[in-house]
Amino acid sequence: MTSDNGTLDGKVALVTGGSRGIGAATAVALARAGADVAVTYVNGKEAASDVVRAVEALGRRGVALRADSSDAGEAAEAVTRTASELGGLDVLVNNAGVGVLGPLESLSPQDVDRVLAVNVRAVFLASQAAAALLPEGGRIITIGSCVTQRVPGPGAALYAMSKSALIGLTKALARELGARGITANIVHPGPIDTDMNPADGPYALDQATATALGRFGTGAEVASTVVHLAAASYVTGAEFSVDGGYAA
Ligand code: NDP
Repeated sequence: MTSDNGTLDGKVALVTGGSRGIGAATAVALARAGADVAVTYVNGKEAASDVVRAVEALGRRGVALRADSSDAGEAAEAVTRTASELGGLDVLVNNAGVGVLGPLESLSPQDVDRVLAVNVRAVFLASQAAAALLPEGGRIITIGSCVTQRVPGPGAALYAMSKSALIGLTKALARELGARGITANIVHPGPIDTDMNPADGPYALDQATATALGRFGTGAEVASTVVHLAAASYVTGAEFSVDGGYAA
């Protein structure tokens, strides 16, 4: 990732759910590329502070904001708070997400509301708030999932539905914001070793075997594509699989 050094100099980024996992790796990678970075968290105050320290160690400004994506107001306010604390916003990374998996009959209306609130409504509201602030050259990058490309078996109905909605949103944002020189793209991670999906978890072997590369990926491997998209000026409305060939 050294080749990304300086490509985002002077830019401000917000990574939702940036205290752990893919979000934390993305925040650090954006800082390494030159951006000042805000991250949101809910429970991981200490972990978010560690990410801010890692950003600052790279010579950038970092801010940790407690903002629960399941709350409509907080999802949008994270965007405006970032802009007021860091002096603007150039890159929004919609990363925060929850995975509620289980047989169709086990999923309650409350599960549906919670997953859609975090995985879909918050992404819409944060993108809407960002659209009001982003300058020409602004970027909206959303973290989807490989299950939008290939559902490997039962149990993913709610999660796959929520992540698939983000593809439509991304394409619509690309059309809506393109005239202002703002891009919107979506990244679909495959199995990535995080707290949500540990590489030594009960279903890990099946997931690793389902990839062409035969292994889990890392948050840094997803982050490098996000950094690329944050700098790319002629890519919009596009989907990127970072899945080790899971959908191949
Ligand atoms: P983790 O569970 O490891 O980390 C989740 C992050 O999101 C944490 O920083 C957490 O903060 C934050 N978060 C959780 N709920 C909320 C909320 N309501 N509001 C704000 N922040 C919240 O997840 P991953 O890093 O694995 O996943 C990141 C994204 O990538 C998600 O959208 C996920 O669906 C997607 N993804 C992950 C894959 C994988 O294999 N890991 C595969 C495909 C997609 P806190 O610590 O404070 O709770």
